[in-house]
Amino acid sequence: MSRAPHPVDRAAAKQSGEPVGAGMRRSGINRRTLLRWSTYMAGVLALPAMPYGIRIAAAMETQPRLPVLWLSGQGCTGDVESFLRASDPTPSQLVMDKLSLDYAETLMAAAGEAAEARIADTITRYAGQYVVVVEGSIPTAENGMCCCIGGRSFTQILSDAAAGALAVIAVGSCAADGGLAKAAGGVTAAVGVSAALDGTGKKIIRFPGCPINPDNVVAALVQYMTLGAWPETDPTGLPLFAYGARIHANCERLPFLRAGQVVREWGDAGHQAGWCLRYVGCQGPRTNGNCSTVKFNSATSWDVGSGSPCFSCTSDGFWDQLDTAFAWTPPVPAMAGGQ
Ligand code: SF4
Repeated sequence: MSRAPHPVDRAAAKQSGEPVGAGMRRSGINRRTLLRWSTYMAGVLALPAMPYGIRIAAAMETQPRLPVLWLSGQGCTGDVESFLRASDPTPSQLVMDKLSLDYAETLMAAAGEAAEARIADTITRYAGQYVVVVEGSIPTAENGMCCCIGGRSFTQILSDAAAGALAVIAVGSCAADGGLAKAAGGVTAAVGVSAALDGTGKKIIRFPGCPINPDNVVAALVQYMTLGAWPETDPTGLPLFAYGARIHANCERLPFLRAGQVVREWGDAGHQAGWCLRYVGCQGPRTNGNCSTVKFNSATSWDVGSGSPCFSCTSDGFWDQLDTAFAWTPPVPAMAGGQ
């Protein structure tokens, strides 16, 4: 029989470096659920369910957790919030939140000097073995003074943490390329992680999105724990498993487009019937991502599935292109079977 998660047990797991699977079991995740989740993780990574589902489950049973420092710069905390949306803790949440996070300002109980000491402790204790996750952009104006934590600029905090890290993972559009703060009118000279750490030679993996899909980030960590290698990326650091294909190619509304069934006006009969949103501004045809296959909120739905057009939030600089996302594009001719 499984028993309820216990905060002391979680703390012990973090200290002991015990396998992730042991912490999962204490949190009520049985082997059947672990196997099902491992197979799902293989799917997210675009790896064959067999043998990778089994290999991932085996790695979770044997590999120690991967210590993670989650640093929040100039952002809205929407990405860490996306980890908290499920009503029950999922294995992905447990891997990231309960078992791996050594420091996350939004989630941790510690504050002030005690919290800042956690960063220094992880950097020292796990030198070369921890991962830095960055949420939010990095403001460079005024010598970084637009974002300071514990008396240090975020540029300095990131630089110090990244120096001894296995890799740095930029989550969300702000960390990936500067995001909203970098858009027209921004006054903080915001940049993304790649620009902030340019020239350091540090391994950087980018997960743009507003917000990110947490399962993509956990999948990257899981692949490293299982195979000892990070997912393949393009030259800008985008993992191919998550950003290697157009959203449009796997959209459930694509058959409607092919049949000429398109929404012409918000709320019309086609909209209510779930037809294609191409001509009311959907940016899916030009946007790379796996939103249409992995989806959000425990694979419940995604923006297009809920009736909103894709506004290309996984594309660099999308905030400056939003005026096209909800705009009516050239009228489409009525087609047989269409509206
Ligand atoms: Fe493509 Fe958007 Fe239409 Fe889906 S709703 S098929 S992503 S244009």
